[in-house]
Amino acid sequence: MLKDWEIVIGLEVHAQVTTESKLFSGAATSFGEEPNSNVSFVDAGMPGMLPVINERAIEQAVRTGLAINAQINLKSVFDRKNYFYPDLPQGYQISQFLDPVVGKGEIILDLPEGKTKKVNVTRIHLEQDAGKSLHEYNPKYSYIDLNRAGTPLMEIVSEPEMSSADEAAAYIKKLRAILRYIGSCDGDMEKGNLRVDANVSVRKPGGKLGTRCEIKNVNSIRFLHKAIEFEAMRQVEILESGGTIDQETRLFDSSKGETRTMRSKEDAMDYRYFPDPDLLPLELTPDFVEAMKQTLPELPDQKKQRYTEKFGLSAYDAEVIVAEQEYAEYYEKLAEKHDPKLSANWMTGELFGRLNKLGVGISASPIGTEQLSGLLALIENKTISGNIAKTVLDLMFETGKDAAAIVEEKGLKQVTDTGAIEKVIDEVMAANPDKVAEYRSGKDKLFGFFVGQVIKASGGKANPAAVNELLKKKLAG
Ligand code: ADP
Ligand code: MG
Repeated sequence: MLKDWEIVIGLEVHAQVTTESKLFSGAATSFGEEPNSNVSFVDAGMPGMLPVINERAIEQAVRTGLAINAQINLKSVFDRKNYFYPDLPQGYQISQFLDPVVGKGEIILDLPEGKTKKVNVTRIHLEQDAGKSLHEYNPKYSYIDLNRAGTPLMEIVSEPEMSSADEAAAYIKKLRAILRYIGSCDGDMEKGNLRVDANVSVRKPGGKLGTRCEIKNVNSIRFLHKAIEFEAMRQVEILESGGTIDQETRLFDSSKGETRTMRSKEDAMDYRYFPDPDLLPLELTPDFVEAMKQTLPELPDQKKQRYTEKFGLSAYDAEVIVAEQEYAEYYEKLAEKHDPKLSANWMTGELFGRLNKLGVGISASPIGTEQLSGLLALIENKTISGNIAKTVLDLMFETGKDAAAIVEEKGLKQVTDTGAIEKVIDEVMAANPDKVAEYRSGKDKLFGFFVGQVIKASGGKANPAAVNELLKKKLAG
C-alpha cells in the first residue's frame, strides 16, 4: 500500500547547548541536581528580573551554524513566545522567530552503498528550555522542578526533504556527530539533551505536499524510525479510505509502537510572538564569526573524505570510524603504523564486535591502541595468520596480556618452515587416499578440503600461502 505513496519528513531538533550556565541567567545547567537548586530569580520568572544573554551560548550556536555550512546572521532578535505551562513561570519562552542567529545550512546524509544526499537546514535559533512537571511523587499533586528552566537550546529545523525513516535516521546521526565533534551539544538522547520532533506527511509521488503531523520529542533513533513508519502508514490508510489528515501534534508511544494525538497544532499567531523588550537585538561582528570558525575541528565529512582518499577506506568503513571522534583518534593511531585497511577491519570488525559483547565503549576498551597495534604487527610480519589473530585477541581480552606474550606462551607462531608443513601434508594425504585419487582424476574442488585439513592438523598455525603452494606440488604427484 505504501508503495504508491511518498513519505515526506522534516525534522526539528532541540539540542541542549553545552554551557556552564543558562541562556539568560547565571544559574548552573548541571544535570541530576536536587530539584529547584539550579534556579535564579530570572528562571523563576520573578517580576522585574532582567535577562542577560550568555555569550557562550551564542558562540556555540554560531559554531554549530558554521559546522553545517550555514549563513550566520550578524543581526538576530529574541522574541517572546507566549504560552502557559505550569513549568514555564515567565508565561513565555524567549526564543527567536523572524530573525534567527543561523540561517540556511546543510547536512550531508550518508546512505547505503556509499551514496550521499544533501538535506537543507532552514535555520537554527536559540531559545530557553522549560522546567519539568513531576506527577509521579504524589497522587494528588504535581510538583515542579525548574532546574531545566532557562537552559539554552538550539532548535535546528530542516526542510521537508527526507523521504524515508532511514534518511531521517541518517540525518540525526550526522547532525549528532557534528554537534559532538564541535562540543556544542553532548547529543545524549537518553537524557533528553537531543530531542527530535518529526514532521511527517505523505503524498502521491510528485504531488503537492500533504498535511503533516508532528511527532513530538522522540528520544532515540530507533524510536524515530518506528514512529515515522507507523505514522506514514496511518496517514496512508486514512487517505486511501477517503479521509483527510488533521494537522496535529502527536506522541510516540514506544511500548505500543504507535503514535497518538496529543493536541491539535497551534499556529505561530497563537503564540503572539513579539521582540522581547528586555533584550536588544543581538549583533555579531564578522571578526567574531571568523574567530569561531577557527575553533572548529576537522568535521566528520572532511574526515570521511580524507579516510577514503588518503587511506583508501570504503565509504562505509570511513563512516563507521568518523561517527565518533574517539573512534577516529583510535583509528589514526593504528593507521600511522599499519596498513590502513587492515587497521579499519580489525578495529570496526573484531575490536568493536568484542566491545559490543562486553557492552563497553571504546573509551573503556581494555585493548588500547598500543595493544591492538601489537597484534596487527604480528599479522603484518606473518608471525600469525588472521585466524589465529582472532583467537589471540580473545585471549588478550581474557587475560589482559600483550599479543606477543600470548603467541609465545601458547606456541601460536605460524609455521612457515616448509619441511614441517610438508610433513603434515604427507600425513593428511596418507589418511585420505580416496580423496587424493579423486583429486588426481580431476575433482579440483577437493583442493579446498586438503587446505582445510592441513591447516587444521597444524593447529591453525601453518601459513596458508605456504600450504597452498606445497599442496599443489604434492597433489600433482
Ligand atoms: P512549526 O514550528 O509550526 O512546527 P515550521 O513551519 O517551522 O513549523 O515547520 C516545522 C517542520 O515541518 C520543518 O522541519 C519542515 O521541514 C516540516 N514540514 C513542513 N511542511 C511539511 C510537510 N508537508 N510534510 C512534512 N514536513 C513538513
Ligand atoms: Mg514544530
